[in-house]
Amino acid sequence: MAPPEDRQTLLLSVDFEDWHQLVRRRVGVREWQAPGPALARQTERLLSLFDEFGVRATFFILGMTARAHPELVGRIRAAGHELGCHGDAHVPVAVQTRQQFASDLRRARETIEQLTGERPAGYRAPAFSITGASPWAYDVLADEGFSYDASEHDTPLVGDPLAPASPGPHRLEVDHGTLWEFPVAVWRTRRLRVPVGGASYWSVLPERLILRGLREAGPMAGLYLHPHELDPTRLRAQLSAAAKPGQRVHGLLRATQRNLARWRAADVLRAIAGRYRLITYGEAHAQLDSGAAAGP
Ligand SMILES: [Zn+2]
Repeated sequence: MAPPEDRQTLLLSVDFEDWHQLVRRRVGVREWQAPGPALARQTERLLSLFDEFGVRATFFILGMTARAHPELVGRIRAAGHELGCHGDAHVPVAVQTRQQFASDLRRARETIEQLTGERPAGYRAPAFSITGASPWAYDVLADEGFSYDASEHDTPLVGDPLAPASPGPHRLEVDHGTLWEFPVAVWRTRRLRVPVGGASYWSVLPERLILRGLREAGPMAGLYLHPHELDPTRLRAQLSAAAKPGQRVHGLLRATQRNLARWRAADVLRAIAGRYRLITYGEAHAQLDSGAAAGP
């Protein structure tokens, strides 16, 4: 096996959100913003796995989750990981106006800055939702001082996608400043685009195909995880006693879906960490941006 410095580089990230907040809001529970019962355990599991593999990741932090769990944001930063921004309210970019998107970004960024004193340089849209309906999102990101975006996911599952300028990291055309794009890993075969970068797909693909697909996806392709995907404890919606039967069934369905996707993600990640060099998006951005500034 190649020594670590010769291995192909992939970018490791976590979309840091509280599954319980999102599922409670979706099923219509009134107290959905309250901190969920599992995120602390899920975060510790992630941090200990990353320590075991000797890797650092970019955590794209959701503002509303950071306000519910301020201590966890501190834990992540203290463990040496990069803090990025996942927006504030987890509303798809494509259904927001340009002004709503800018204020959602600012609210999240201010929360992260207040908690850590650090300004995130990178952004990932909820559900990769920068699409044909929101091409202005890149201009807003650059205007708001972000250096890179990590939202491009060239898969048929993202509706109305913007045509990717390049499958690898590239500079985006923006009105002011510069903005880099780091797309999620996609394996392009002659007939198919296989989304090999997300842990939610790792349960349905054989491990050797995932490893091969990541090689074919090319250097500096992006991986994304969610905190619940590596936690051995099963998810339960844990709605309050006031929840209606319909809300309970909806919560159970959401949990079952997520539990199916979760059951072997840690093993797949271990195999990936053994064969690839995993770095943060910030490290990748620093390498590319300094190379671009120095010229060819
Ligand atoms: Zn998300």
